[in-house]
Amino acid sequence: MTDKRNRMTTAAGVPVGDNQNSLTAGPRGPVLMQDYQLMEKMAHFNRERVPERVVHAKGAGAYGTFKVTGDISRYTRAKIFSKVGKTCEIFVRFSTVAGELGSADTARDPRGFAVKFYTEEGNWDMVGNNTPVFFVRDPLKFSDFIHSQKRDPRTGMRDNTMQWDFWSLSPESLHQVTTLFSDRGIPATLRHMNGYSSHTYSLWNEAGERYWVKWHFKTMQGIKCLTSDEATRIAGEDLDHHRRDLFTAIEKGEFPKWRAMVQIMPEKDAETYAINPFDLTKVWPHKDYPLIEVGVMELNRNPENYFAEVEQAAFEPGNLPPGMGASPDKMLQARLLSYPDAHRYRIGVNYAALPVNKPRCPVHHYHRDGQTRFDGNFGRAPNYQPNSFGGPVEDARYKEPPLKISGDADRYDHRAGNDDYTQAGNLYRLMNADQKAQLIGNLVDALKPVPREIQVRQIHHFYQADPAYGEGVARGLGIDINRVKAA
Ligand code: NDP
Repeated sequence: MTDKRNRMTTAAGVPVGDNQNSLTAGPRGPVLMQDYQLMEKMAHFNRERVPERVVHAKGAGAYGTFKVTGDISRYTRAKIFSKVGKTCEIFVRFSTVAGELGSADTARDPRGFAVKFYTEEGNWDMVGNNTPVFFVRDPLKFSDFIHSQKRDPRTGMRDNTMQWDFWSLSPESLHQVTTLFSDRGIPATLRHMNGYSSHTYSLWNEAGERYWVKWHFKTMQGIKCLTSDEATRIAGEDLDHHRRDLFTAIEKGEFPKWRAMVQIMPEKDAETYAINPFDLTKVWPHKDYPLIEVGVMELNRNPENYFAEVEQAAFEPGNLPPGMGASPDKMLQARLLSYPDAHRYRIGVNYAALPVNKPRCPVHHYHRDGQTRFDGNFGRAPNYQPNSFGGPVEDARYKEPPLKISGDADRYDHRAGNDDYTQAGNLYRLMNADQKAQLIGNLVDALKPVPREIQVRQIHHFYQADPAYGEGVARGLGIDINRVKAA
């Protein structure tokens, strides 16, 4: 006997009499077409998967709270930062980049670090990574870069030669390559790594003054990492090691926390600062722009359903409430399009109305219809603007201050005169002896299967960042450094 609460039904709500035996003509079959329930089950099952993300496919997510601890209201009019002590619900999704949905969590790969802040003036999505820089600075190279990290078109296998061929021909990748192969290249857990906006964004205040900003999320659990050997062993034991760790910690009440910090640059400084502040392959040294604490983020609630909440979570760098803005960073500009574009393809044009993505504040616009319009589609409200029937209208108080831009439209060589070596060298030089040894060991292992010519080309980059760095990798690969210098 069932009562209404647990009585099984079809999707149309019709009670199901038998969920164990198909409807057949006689006990041996065949099955009858009129077994609607069987047809519905099979058809729905065939459609259970949405396309996986081209990048950042494998992820883990959780809800939490953000609490403002530092006053930055002089830089931004964003309501979330209007006073110390304010809190806001968040949803975070961490991910690897290159691996597919079923891949190992402990791969050497950057980690996506995406935070959705459900603020009272709309969602703010901080779609970052656990590294402060990236491999490329021009979005025209992004798909080439990702192809080189994914599978060989002939064999369907990951291939070190493709990876190093691209990197060695793209010196702007050196800083991120150094980060990736360092001891921090594989976090021990998702709780023990930092997050960075990587991109420069902007903040603007009530007076219409703009500041450039980089966001940092420093783990309060401390940095912990895996060696390559540990990561390989764990991958053989538990593909979902990081996902499991995060879920289990939250279930046990061990809520991970991060300190949110900013580096702030007045708008005018960008014109004279020695480093292009919009170059995604560069950090702003802390001595020039010190970190300022602004808040603490805590993860304290696991999703109830992985697909609904983690797989359908859709982050977009363009979700910026008033008081926040983008920047001229070319990579950010391209991501402003590519993220929502990917969501429309992957989970449909109404993705923003899915429960995990839905803003916690009222939403009023004129988008209508489209696939899977699962809410009331704004009912009888007018679907055009201007209108005479009380439809939503814009409010000039929310206009971003104008940004002065100039220059001739051209395809500027982003490599010409760009220093790809100093900051990569700085990173190498701040490592202790053990970290340097790990970095060089990791690089030597990854470069071993690669043709000599590519090895030499890549060592040339390491050498220019720091001679000891290049010499170490050359030694590990049995290459005479003079051959590298001659090249
Ligand atoms: P600082 O000495 O002020 O900062 C060094 C930074 O490096 C710290 O944020 C530290 O993070 C981080 N770090 C330490 N060890 C590693 C490692 N093995 N892998 C990755 N990051 C590490 O110097 P600068 O600001 O002048 O930066 C020097 C170099 O540090 C940069 O070229 C860059 O490669 C790296 N870096 C700089 C960041 C920045 O925003 N300025 C951010 C992250 C890295 P923590 O404090 O958490 O230990």
